[in-house]
Amino acid sequence: MYTIQPQVSLQPFNTFGIQAIAQYFVTITSIGDVQQLIKTPLFGKERHLILGGGSNLLLTQDFNGLIIKNEIKGIEILKEIDDTITLKVGAGENWHTFVLHCVNQDWGGVENLSLIPGTVGAAPMQNIGAYGVEIKDIIDSVEVVNLQDGTVSNFTNYACNFGYRESIFKQSHRDKYLISSITLTLTKKNHRFNASYGSIMDVLRDKGIAEPSVKAISDAVVQIRRSKLPDPAHIGNAGSFFKNPSINTETLEHLKLDYPNIPSFPGEKGLKKISAAWLIEQCGWKGKTFNNIGVHQHQALVLVNYGGGSGKNIWQLAMDIQASVKEKFNIILQPEVNVI
Ligand SMILES: Cc1cc2nc3c(=O)[nH]c(=O)nc-3n(C[C@H](O)[C@H](O)[C@H](O)COP(=O)(O)OP(=O)(O)OC[C@H]3O[C@@H](n4cnc5c(N)ncnc54)[C@H](O)[C@@H]3O)c2cc1C
Repeated sequence: MYTIQPQVSLQPFNTFGIQAIAQYFVTITSIGDVQQLIKTPLFGKERHLILGGGSNLLLTQDFNGLIIKNEIKGIEILKEIDDTITLKVGAGENWHTFVLHCVNQDWGGVENLSLIPGTVGAAPMQNIGAYGVEIKDIIDSVEVVNLQDGTVSNFTNYACNFGYRESIFKQSHRDKYLISSITLTLTKKNHRFNASYGSIMDVLRDKGIAEPSVKAISDAVVQIRRSKLPDPAHIGNAGSFFKNPSINTETLEHLKLDYPNIPSFPGEKGLKKISAAWLIEQCGWKGKTFNNIGVHQHQALVLVNYGGGSGKNIWQLAMDIQASVKEKFNIILQPEVNVI
């Protein structure tokens, strides 16, 4: 059973730490809750926003509508054979706690995605990724509740239409479904580690680990992330604010004439991805502060709220950054964060 509360502060529910008021706020803990909720006159009348951990959101104003905080929990083993295990995980589980659960059982597949904030249910929304792994690599299917009629169905991995920080849930199906659980298959042995990305290899080498375990990789990722990214518990932020833009080879070659050191790496569909952080840094934004907000001193891609900053001002800063990158490089940065 749930209670709809009026006038709730969203400050504790977003990692930017932005103050904004939700006109209505409800916490749901089961599919049944969702099916009941959508029959209420209030749901029919008000706009809604599903909230997980609030780590990929920028609130630019009060939310005049209903915030649905998803706390559907549970980890269920669907199938276990000699070398793999298939799990169904409630969308309201904390992502990193789930990763640690897998790491502690020596189940492989999610270790590179250690320490990403937020909930399990939001992970397929933007196909979370880090250190060469994306959730699309391990996900079997996504269970959803249709917010029009309450029916429950499953999207196969293919039907989710995953792309770089994209899925069908962020595009054409946005706000139409509540993701209630995900099903994923992990390895119990013969793990296929991806340690070649970032500085994972260096950390393992420093520790004298030649044959890494699931835990060793997870520990390395956690160590690297802690040294590089601001912890939202101390400085408000939502991770990378923009996506790395994809450009064609011809445009890249053209840019290289003026900027021979521009970092690039293979993207989707034969395109090249270039580092948004590098572009922002070249425009002189890294480490800049404007009263209580700014661009992080070590990570140009991370916009920060040092305390008391407004979502509107952070969004203005993002747009100023976008405009200067467009002017200098003729590239339009796209936000990764959901701007509300
Ligand atoms: C310090 C830091 C580091 C980060 N690093 C990474 C990283 O390495 N890689 C990466 O990919 N991301 C990263 N992120 C971004 C963020 O952690 C992920 O996008 C995460 O999956 C968001 O989860 P959440 O529960 O907080 O989602 P929220 O911010 O609550 O919601 C995000 C969006 O998903 C929707 N949504 C949430 N739950 C559901 C649901 N159950 N059903 C339907 N829609 C839903 C919301 O309506 C919203 O549009 C980082 C963020 C921070 C703060």
